[in-house]
Amino acid sequence: MYSKPDAHGYYGEFGGAYIPEMLQANIHELLNNYKKIAATAAFKKEFNALLKDFVGRPTPLYFAQNLSKQYKTNIYLKREDLCHTGAHKVNNTVGQVLVALALGKKRIIAETGAGQHGVATATVCALKGLECIVYMGEKDIQRQAPNVARMRMLGAKVVPATSGSKTLKDATNEAIRDWINNPIDTHYIIGSVVGPHPYPDMVATFQSIISKEIKQQLLKQTGNELPTHVIACVGGGSNAAGAFYHFTEDKKVKLIAVEAAGCGVNSGMSAATTALGTQGILHGSKSLVMQTTDGQVVEPHSISAGLDYPGIGPMHANLYATKRAQFISITDDDAMKAAFHVSKTEGIIPALETAHAFAVLDQIPFKKKDVVVINLSGRGDKDLETYMKFL
Ligand SMILES: *Cc1c(COP(=O)(O)O)cnc(C)c1O
Repeated sequence: MYSKPDAHGYYGEFGGAYIPEMLQANIHELLNNYKKIAATAAFKKEFNALLKDFVGRPTPLYFAQNLSKQYKTNIYLKREDLCHTGAHKVNNTVGQVLVALALGKKRIIAETGAGQHGVATATVCALKGLECIVYMGEKDIQRQAPNVARMRMLGAKVVPATSGSKTLKDATNEAIRDWINNPIDTHYIIGSVVGPHPYPDMVATFQSIISKEIKQQLLKQTGNELPTHVIACVGGGSNAAGAFYHFTEDKKVKLIAVEAAGCGVNSGMSAATTALGTQGILHGSKSLVMQTTDGQVVEPHSISAGLDYPGIGPMHANLYATKRAQFISITDDDAMKAAFHVSKTEGIIPALETAHAFAVLDQIPFKKKDVVVINLSGRGDKDLETYMKFL
């Protein structure tokens, strides 16, 4: 099983829970309860109702006529950009907030890089009247002012992380510290398929709605529920995990994961974890990590904040190691070109993260009969400032 970890939280050799003693109680509480909670009729009813009317699911599976014509194949876009708050992240925050409420938690903490996960968390906390604290690197607070404003408007407190490089990995460290100090009343919502077991499995399960819908929609639209290719960008890997989830056991379906090459894989300014990483432990799980030979995490670089992470989730590390998925990396420049091309060709401005997935269309020759699904993980409004520099 590629989509599910074993009883100890391992996907092949990757995963597990490498956590300090002081987090054991929190992690065990979650591990012992989240599956039971998610299996109750009350949870399912509310989760499905919120996904439908608050998030706006099912999101459409859209046949992209113009790109299909240009690339002489059949290209379908899974429109996660149409989710409330503009990306797939909210699927996970709705699920985790409902788990937190069932556990009797009153306070939610989260880390955020570009601010998309912070906004999605603040949004669901506002809906449910929960206190919300978002840790964000001081540098990212300056770079992502509109998302900081959104979080504050939604009632969240944004706390700057001032250590290290003052970006996502430092914000994650601050959030973990908060959780250690507030173990009883607080739930920590991790925003991707990373972190100690059971987070990768929990987040992947909440995001798996994406491939569940793709199957149903493809069956209706083409008469076959299986595509030939599924393409998704990978930061930590949550949108890709959701898009791959129900296809991993069908070997005929090619899974293509797209990482950020930044200025080039060998430029020293990259976030292509599978190309550059080695086995290591980052934020509580064993996975592939960009690190020096003595285990110091290497600063990643990508033009898109959502892919600017020095690791990937353990499910993806295993998909890479077993060659079940093909990993491709795309440079900042090629992602930028793809963003402009898709906008003009299809009338859809994608997030910069998603633009990396579109750039693959120029790298892989597809056949006329292929059915290619691209997971359109988010919309580009948040990236306008970057796009404006290229107009
Ligand atoms: C956060 C984000 C990503 C990257 O995160 P994953 O966990 O890898 O999905 C990709 N696309 C968008 C639009 C995002 O906001």
